[in-house]
Amino acid sequence: MEFDLSEEQEMVRRLVRDFAEREIAPVIRDHDRAGCFPWEIIRKMSPLGLLGAPVPQEYGGMGVDFITYAIIIEQLGHADTSLRTTVSVHSSLAELAILYYGNEEQRRRYLPRLASGEIIGGFSITEPNVGSDAAGMQTIAAQDGDTWVLNGNKLWVTNGALGGLAIVFAQTDRSQGVKGISAFIVEAVLPGFTATEIRGKMGLRSSSTAEFVFEDCRVPQENLLGQIGDGFKIAMACLDNGRLGIAAGCVGLAQACIDASVKYARERKQFGRPIGSFQLVQDKVAEMVIETEAARFLVYRAAYLKNKGERNTREASIAKLYASEAAKRAADRAIQIHGSYGYSDEYPVERHYRDVRADTIYEGTSEIQKLIVGRHTLGIDAFA
Ligand SMILES: Cc1cc2nc3c(=O)[nH]c(=O)nc-3n(C[C@H](O)[C@H](O)[C@H](O)COP(=O)(O)OP(=O)(O)OC[C@H]3O[C@@H](n4cnc5c(N)ncnc54)[C@H](O)[C@@H]3O)c2cc1C
Repeated sequence: MEFDLSEEQEMVRRLVRDFAEREIAPVIRDHDRAGCFPWEIIRKMSPLGLLGAPVPQEYGGMGVDFITYAIIIEQLGHADTSLRTTVSVHSSLAELAILYYGNEEQRRRYLPRLASGEIIGGFSITEPNVGSDAAGMQTIAAQDGDTWVLNGNKLWVTNGALGGLAIVFAQTDRSQGVKGISAFIVEAVLPGFTATEIRGKMGLRSSSTAEFVFEDCRVPQENLLGQIGDGFKIAMACLDNGRLGIAAGCVGLAQACIDASVKYARERKQFGRPIGSFQLVQDKVAEMVIETEAARFLVYRAAYLKNKGERNTREASIAKLYASEAAKRAADRAIQIHGSYGYSDEYPVERHYRDVRADTIYEGTSEIQKLIVGRHTLGIDAFA
């Protein structure tokens, strides 16, 4: 078993860390306060290949392995979970959905534009009345000649209001249950499609989260992703990749909480001593370090299986559940160590505390991850 990063992985880690310190850190609080999407950072990420990391070079990406991908996402999570969420959904859901399930024509048409950041991709399952029970979605796609006519509403679509594209899941034959769901590549320019930015989020304020409305929106037949009825299978397989990305990002966020807490605990003095000399503060730092290191290894294991071409549903769920809950605890402990200063956005831990709250909810809540792990272990098929 090899615990060291390769030279190339270490180089990528440093490249993303340096980029984050130089380009993201100085503007992050203003972006968070203003709730504006950081297009200028996205444009600077493009030449570094960070918007197409797992996409093979022949389609304009970097073609990195999944441990390297996890390292990139961890570093983005260390800097800013809004940006990390944008990149995770764009790459691990939209790009990989097209790479794995698109035909050659779809790959050639969309992947280079996504990998360069010319357009940003989303992935849309959730609806106003449908969250954890994704199979119950109500959006309908009816075939009419060589187009599919979509009607319905989608909610909480990360990257949804950025004018790019989204992988949209809809019912094509309700009588078939989960086999009646299909996936479509929907470009934002289509008539009958409206995307509206959702305002007032607790955190992730500089990421885009949208509501979609489809009113007789005609999607060309050539934008059907995979075969008719493959949608649910595609969605679940893609979520394995998405959860790996979230878990990696959470390791980065938890590490950022550790780094900020250590710095603060060394500088802040009470009772004539740095607060880091108090054992109750050390206890919080130790818990954060232990849980973050455990989470990192769970992420690497899930990524390692993916590198081997093995299905990693169970391992990605374990990593997502553990890393997101550990990051949530880390953000809470970091605020406590910072005292009142932690309650202000003068310090980054306040933002981490708000941002991390989404990590235990999106792409399957912690409860749903437990159901996945439990079912896998017991050999139960949820849709049998
Ligand atoms: C910032 C943000 C970005 C998002 N981005 C996207 C995106 O890009 N694309 C997309 O499709 N969706 C996205 N989502 C939506 C997200 O994936 C859903 O919110 C999530 O799947 C949970 O669904 P829900 O909110 O409807 O909760 P519900 O499913 O209504 O669940 C409510 C509560 O009940 C619990 N619960 C539900 N069923 C069970 C059960 N069987 N057993 C035990 N407990 C259960 C849940 O765990 C939860 O605690 C995003 C959400 C947020 C907050």
